[in-house]
Amino acid sequence: MTVRLLDTLSGRQRDLVPLEPGHVRIYSCGPTVYGPAHIGNFRSFLFADLLVRHLRWRGLRVTWVMNVTDIDDKIIRGAAGAGVSIEALTERWTERFLADAASLRMNQPEVLPRATRHMDEIVALISTLLDKGHAYRTDDGSIFFRIASWPAYGKLARLDPDQLRVGERVEADEYAKDDVRDFAIWKGPKPGEPSWSTTIGEGRPGWHIECSAMAMKHLGPSFDIHTGGIDLIFPHHEDEIAQSEAATGQEFVGTWLHCAHLQMGGEKMARSEGNIALVGELLERGISTRALRYALISAHYRASLSYTDDSLASATAAVERLDAAYLALSTYREDRADDPALPDALDAARTAFGAALDDDLNISPALAALFDLVRDLNRRIDARAMSTADAERAVVALRDIDLVLGIGPDFEAEVLEPDVQDLIDARAAARAARDWARSDRLRDELAGRGIVIEDSRDGQRWRRAGVTSDA
Ligand SMILES: [Zn+2]
Repeated sequence: MTVRLLDTLSGRQRDLVPLEPGHVRIYSCGPTVYGPAHIGNFRSFLFADLLVRHLRWRGLRVTWVMNVTDIDDKIIRGAAGAGVSIEALTERWTERFLADAASLRMNQPEVLPRATRHMDEIVALISTLLDKGHAYRTDDGSIFFRIASWPAYGKLARLDPDQLRVGERVEADEYAKDDVRDFAIWKGPKPGEPSWSTTIGEGRPGWHIECSAMAMKHLGPSFDIHTGGIDLIFPHHEDEIAQSEAATGQEFVGTWLHCAHLQMGGEKMARSEGNIALVGELLERGISTRALRYALISAHYRASLSYTDDSLASATAAVERLDAAYLALSTYREDRADDPALPDALDAARTAFGAALDDDLNISPALAALFDLVRDLNRRIDARAMSTADAERAVVALRDIDLVLGIGPDFEAEVLEPDVQDLIDARAAARAARDWARSDRLRDELAGRGIVIEDSRDGQRWRRAGVTSDA
């Protein structure tokens, strides 16, 4: 088994060979916490989650770091506009981000570093860049990275360094940079803005330097994978490479992975476009978090993905199909010999699923392998061709695949209200006593509570009407 990933920097598929054998270190650019993350942001975070889950499923140890940007221009404006402190604003939206991430079943990264808690590392990195001549100060107390000192600049975004940043001339005048292409790694103090008193002077860090400092603090000067949305390739990731490699003299990142935008109404989903959908709003509409997760991970990460009511409906149908298979299998009872062909069928599905994801997280054939298996299992159920133990084996196989996808039902967490459970038990008793009138009455009563009762050869089973929030 080898995982191959398409590296943005080299433009080639590379075998993933962790710098430390068996241990993959991953950094993902996380949210800037001045408002709720929209589902376009979450597409990028869930792609990283899928990668992390798959690598773990393959037996690799993964250390995953996702930063939280808790100081920048938008945060400063947001806090001033809301009349609250920056800490109060960022704390609130960090909590909301974590709650949304949990409801979408995103694994929690090992480290969620915040920029304001890494000022020492940021200042040390800037000091090194000043010492090595890769950075310089301006009169207003700002510090800029000197692109002329770093000939490799532009290699990630494939830019001609001489043509860079012509559009930023206005900002250049404002800051009196030596070179229009140079970017701020430290911003001098301004009235009404927060600043830190440090050995490099008074001010606050630029956004790009935060990620370099936090990535290297938690993962070392070189690590395996860096992820983000494609809009971060330039300038954010280009700048991260320049600052980090200029400071350490080592290759910063082995493989760069970039996720395409989520589109809505033909445009990139972005706060600035005004076409955003929020996790919380969708849940209020009764959308299943699992269906939403499915919709966001079911296209290849480098393919642009359109978000529509139709795509949500088909994601909901897929999740319901999966739920129905789990339910049928977990209640299936047949006293017969095990099917000797079943283990091979389960193994073949697992192999096809894993091989697809090994190939640059090729999700479509991976999902096809899962749903082909579901169809096959449904046929076996209808034909009563499995033993009770076979059905249990099939559930184990589906659960195994779901360790990567995270879209399956969570039976353990499904706790019914006690009076609903009493009604279900009472109906089972009525059926056992062949009291059909009472049994029908109880079924109607349960329907009124949103619980659908189905009778099968394996006895009575229940499900919630439609798929609703898992929360
Ligand atoms: Zn970043």
